Amino acid sequence: MKKAESRRKRAAKRGKNMRKLNLILLGAPGAGKGTQAELISERYGIPAISTGAIIREEIAAGSELGLTVKACMERGELAPDEVVIGIIKSRLARPDCERGFILDGFPRTVPQAEALDQMGVEITDVVSIEVDDEAIARRMSGRRVCKKCGATYHTVYNPSPKGETCVCGEPLTRRADDDPDVVKSRLAVYHEQTEPLKAFYKEKGLLKIIFGQEKLEDTTALMRGALESGDVTGKDR
Ligand SMILES: [Zn+2]
Repeated sequence: MKKAESRRKRAAKRGKNMRKLNLILLGAPGAGKGTQAELISERYGIPAISTGAIIREEIAAGSELGLTVKACMERGELAPDEVVIGIIKSRLARPDCERGFILDGFPRTVPQAEALDQMGVEITDVVSIEVDDEAIARRMSGRRVCKKCGATYHTVYNPSPKGETCVCGEPLTRRADDDPDVVKSRLAVYHEQTEPLKAFYKEKGLLKIIFGQEKLEDTTALMRGALESGDVTGKDR
C-alpha cells in the first residue's frame, strides 16, 4: 500500500520533470508493445491507450460503437478508419492526457497517421520495437491460456508446472490469434500496412528504433534510453 503510494508519487514527480511525452509505439504483433506501454505508463504517470482494449470493452458492453466494429470483424474486415479515429479523438480529449500519452496500436496505417496530424495532435516521440519474424512466431506459438481461470503461460519462457495443463487442472489451449498461420498473416499485414509509418515519422525526425531483447528488463532499459537520452529538458516542447 505504502510502496504503491510512493511509487505513484515518484512517477508524478518524474512526470513533472519530464518533458511532455506524446508517444506512439510501433512494432509487430508480439513484439511487446503492450507490456512496454504499461511500464512507461507507470513510470511517467501518463495513460497507455490501446485501441484494441477500448474496442474489446465496447464490444463487451454492447455499445453502438462496439456493435459496428463487431459486424466488421465478423466480415473479416478491420474497423473502419473513421470509427477508430473517433475513438482516439474522444480518448485524447480526456484530462489525463494533458501531460502526455502512449498510443499502442494506433496509428496502424499512413492515412490514420495523417488523420492524427489533421486532428492537431502533436506527437513528440515514435519508438519502433524491432523483433524479427521468426522470433515473434516462436514466442507466439508457445503462448498458452487457461480458459477456466485465465492464467497465461509460455511453453519456453513461463511453463506451467503441469506441462500442457494449468495449475487449476484445466488443459491449456492456444488463442486463435496465436495460431502460426494467423501469426504469419498478421505479420504480413504489419509489414505491408504499418511498417511504412516508420518512413513517415522518420521524415518528421521523430523515429527511434530499439531492438526487442529476450529479457523484458533489457528491452525496458533500451526503451528508457530512447525516451530519456539527451533531450530531457524539463520543459514542454
Ligand atoms: Zn487454470
